[in-house]
Amino acid sequence: MAKTKNNIRVKNMERGSQKGNRVRKGKALKINGSKLSQKSSKINEKSEVKVQEWMNDCPSIRISKGKKKKAPTASLRERMEGRLQGAQFRLLNEQLYTAEGTRSQKLFKKNPEAFEAYHSGFQHQVQQWEFNPLDKIIANIKKKNCNLVVADFGCGEARLAQSVANKVHSFDLVALNEHVTACDMAHTPLPDASVDIAVFCLSLMGTNLADFILEANRVLKEGGALKIAEVESRFDGENGAKTFIHEMSKFGFKLTSKNLEKTFFYFMDFKKVDAISKRKGLPLLTLKPCMYKKR
Ligand code: SAH
Repeated sequence: MAKTKNNIRVKNMERGSQKGNRVRKGKALKINGSKLSQKSSKINEKSEVKVQEWMNDCPSIRISKGKKKKAPTASLRERMEGRLQGAQFRLLNEQLYTAEGTRSQKLFKKNPEAFEAYHSGFQHQVQQWEFNPLDKIIANIKKKNCNLVVADFGCGEARLAQSVANKVHSFDLVALNEHVTACDMAHTPLPDASVDIAVFCLSLMGTNLADFILEANRVLKEGGALKIAEVESRFDGENGAKTFIHEMSKFGFKLTSKNLEKTFFYFMDFKKVDAISKRKGLPLLTLKPCMYKKR
């Protein structure tokens, strides 16, 4: 395993020779030009993939076409591509959870293809879940007055904006479509006290959560709602959730309802009760990163 510039240890799992995935002699899998084949005895070293390099070089996943050799069967090819895409998704996911928002923004700005790859991996994950927490949030907002202004922090494909009648400001690191404003959500272009409902659905990534919550506090009107949906494992159980809720009170947010019953996801609704403009004395506010397992 190699230590990358980001200090992230990356175990490579893109070996063609893994169980059930034998690569025919001479067939090679390429990631950014590094050839991985059964022939190589140094496969482990060669197949180390550095996150930073991947991000910088625009990750491309392809199977090299040896002129005389037959192309792999569709299912083998699909399996290989699936594994590579899964590995790529997990690396990018780790990047998002272990760096500050501004850093991830810079990396994705240089390499928007990586962001698209991240989102196709994310969509793959969503399909494995019993339900999508965003659907619960959409259903809840649909019940409210459609004149309320919404801000969707870390909106992904901006499905919320496309599902409700309300005015929704959608923010993410890269604009996947015309509904999204590209920015680091710690610094949105919204004026102070201009929003009625702020949403963070699975988007409290990055090591500077406090900055995102402070930004939500800035843009929300007094009495405005803050809705958070997060993966349960990020909180260290109900006690962890209680600590988080307590810390949120220091950011000017009072809990109005919570649902910690759902397996896999926690839902919390807060109300802005105080305008907080100074960082001094505020807790760090942390959640554990959510690392996905191999497909
Ligand atoms: N809320 C969407 C997407 C969840 S994926 C949904 O539920 O479907 C999490 C999203 O948060 C990703 O698109 C990621 O890019 C975004 N995100 C993480 N940190 C961010 C930041 N600092 N600024 C803007 N978006 C961020």
